[in-house]
Amino acid sequence: MLYSIDKHILSGPDVQTSLCTGKDSGAFASGQPDTLVLHFTAGGSLASAVKTLVSPDVKASAHVAVGRGGEIVQMVPFDRIAWHAGVSSWNGRTNLNRYSIGIEIDNAGRLSPSGDGFVSWFGRRYERAEALEAMHRNERTASFWHVYTEEQIEACFQLCATLVEAYGIKNIVGHEEIAPGRKTDPGPAFPLDRLREQLLVGRKEDVRNPLIPVAPQAVAVGVVASSLLNVRKQPHKSSELSGEPVARGTRVEILETSGEWCRVKIERQGWVAKDFLRIS
Ligand SMILES: [Zn+2]
Repeated sequence: MLYSIDKHILSGPDVQTSLCTGKDSGAFASGQPDTLVLHFTAGGSLASAVKTLVSPDVKASAHVAVGRGGEIVQMVPFDRIAWHAGVSSWNGRTNLNRYSIGIEIDNAGRLSPSGDGFVSWFGRRYERAEALEAMHRNERTASFWHVYTEEQIEACFQLCATLVEAYGIKNIVGHEEIAPGRKTDPGPAFPLDRLREQLLVGRKEDVRNPLIPVAPQAVAVGVVASSLLNVRKQPHKSSELSGEPVARGTRVEILETSGEWCRVKIERQGWVAKDFLRIS
C-alpha cells in the first residue's frame, strides 16, 4: 500500500496534515464509518479548498482533500464525523456524515464553453484538453466537466484502497448519488464505477451488497471516426476481437476509459482504440 494509517491519521508520499478544530460531530458510532463519499471541490486549487474547509467560519469540513498532483491534505481524523454530505440519503440511511469518510478532490466541476476554451463558475479559463464532454448520471444531456489528472485519480484510488482495508469500507458513493437533486460531484469525469469495481466487487461481504451498481452507466458518448473500428474483449491491441468491427458514424456509449482504450456499448460491449473515436 502506498499509504498507511496510524491512529486515524494518514501518512505516505505527499501527505500533509492540517487538522481543523471544532469542525466535527465527535466520534463515529461503533462499526462506522463503512462508507466513502467522493466530492469535487468546485474550486481553483487545493490550497484554497483546504483554507475554506479548515476555516472556523465555514460550516463544512472533510477528512481529506486530494490535489491535482496527487498530494493529500488531511483535515479531520478518520474516526470523527466531518461535515461534507449535508442533507443526504442512501439505502435507507439519512445524514451520511454519520457513516462516511469525506474525500474532496480538487476540480472546478462543470465548465461552460467560452470562445475557443471553457470557463468555470468562478471565472477561470480552461483549455479544450481540460474539459470532458460527458453526460452526468443524473442528467439526460451531455455537458462539459473539468478533467481530473491521472496523478489525482491514482492517489484517490490508492487512498480509497487504504481506507477500504483499514475500516472495512463497504460502500463508495458520489455526493451526486446521495444528494442527487442538489449535487453533481464528483461528476462524470471521475471514474467512480471503475473505483467501485476495483475496490469493492469481489470482496466477500459485497457479493450480496445491493449498493454495487450492476448496470454501468455511460460517462460519455462517442462517434466512430475511422471507416471500420475493431472491438476487442480486453483493452489491448493483441486482445481477441469481440464480434464484427463497427462502421464510421456509429454512435457508442462510453462506459469507462482505461489508458488509451474506451469500453463502449453499441449493441454489444468491447474495447476500442481511443484514437479512432470522436468523443463528444
Ligand atoms: Zn460534495
